[in-house]
Amino acid sequence: MALIVKKFGGSSVANAERVNNVANIITDEYRKGNDVIVVVSAQGDTTDELIEKANEINPNGVSKREMDVLLTAGEQISIALLAMAVEKLGFPVISLLGWQAGFETDANHTVARIKKINTERLKAELAKKNIIIVAGFQGINKYDDITTLGRGGSDTSAVAIAAAMNADRCQIYTDVDGVYSADPRKVTSAVKMDEITYDEMLELATLGAQVLNNRSVEMAKKYNVELEVLSSLEKKKGTIVKEKVKMEKTLIRGVAKDENVSCISIIGLKDAPGVAFKIFNILAQKKVNIDMILQSVGRDGTKDISFTVSFSQSPDAVRALDGLKDRFEVKAISVNDETAKVSIVGAGMQSHPGIASKMFEALYDANVNIQMIATSEIKLSVLIEQKSADKAVQAIHDAFIN
Ligand code: ADP
Ligand code: ASP
Ligand code: MG
Repeated sequence: MALIVKKFGGSSVANAERVNNVANIITDEYRKGNDVIVVVSAQGDTTDELIEKANEINPNGVSKREMDVLLTAGEQISIALLAMAVEKLGFPVISLLGWQAGFETDANHTVARIKKINTERLKAELAKKNIIIVAGFQGINKYDDITTLGRGGSDTSAVAIAAAMNADRCQIYTDVDGVYSADPRKVTSAVKMDEITYDEMLELATLGAQVLNNRSVEMAKKYNVELEVLSSLEKKKGTIVKEKVKMEKTLIRGVAKDENVSCISIIGLKDAPGVAFKIFNILAQKKVNIDMILQSVGRDGTKDISFTVSFSQSPDAVRALDGLKDRFEVKAISVNDETAKVSIVGAGMQSHPGIASKMFEALYDANVNIQMIATSEIKLSVLIEQKSADKAVQAIHDAFIN
């Protein structure tokens, strides 16, 4: 007998037919004699629709606490409906909200981190032979307030349960049948991988491949939880995410795109020591996450600094910098939301010359201008204009993978 954790994303439970389909998948597993814990997301676009409702009430920004109360309702609907579908098939089942399943988080509303899972309730329900359906993406903080884990957080809920319960398998069911070399909905020539390492998957996820949430991969690596990404609609093998994989011929594993990027430029800063420190220190105090940074060569005693942040943090960053205008005598601060980051990922690319040149050539051939460049051992990213992003992904994919 094994303990299997299965997670189903929004599209997998989008309507009654899909919910019934998921009920069949999990009861088939239970029938084999296994313990089954299921994590589900909100149905279809429910989370987006709830955010929209909140914005209708107050476009100037609702409080994060109330946003969490609202958003967790999406997953609450899913667990109840799925439990009802399992009941209908005649199996013992119980649905649990995040707090009932023992998810304790920190107090950072809308982006909370899991601190620990109290597993007593989960263990007690398994002992009663119940199939357990847990609401993903949510927990409770030390003030007994409801929290959420950030968009795509149900993946992390599933991995956290698998780690805490020492599960034998953790399967992430979604609307594609595995992890591909690029988004298969955008790049038809994308190839499915049998296996991918945690490190490569973490980069791909962080750089925009939405198929797995990056925190979930981080956690899977930390607790050595092997993941399988597979389809809830087609019965076939998916992609395994683990520490080490068989040697692959391809150097570049995947291409990812992130359109959730804003580029902020500070023009006409004094060209003197300490200026960059002061600016990024203020941004750090406001908890703004900086990604790429570009500083121009100083000319006539001034220089420009540009950097990227996630689209959602852009207003915070600009607000933080506004107060600096006078202090640093800057000429202007501009924000460009029409940008995208396109990246290639592959372990070992650092030791192979010519990767950057090949990527830049592909962009040149596609007539795409590069605004910024960033590298690490296993990734190379460029910032480009958003409207060329799909074209750029296709061109780079063609150059490296097909
Ligand atoms: P879920 O609702 O199941 O969590 P998501 O929409 O979050 O599903 O993630 C699945 C989607 O990720 C796919 O529909 C696909 O379009 C997208 N995707 C982006 N990059 C990749 C990739 N490299 N491999 C597979 N899917 C990808
Ligand atoms: N429902 C949440 C979201 O849409 C969590 C998830 O799907 O993982 O972000
Ligand atoms: Mg997802």
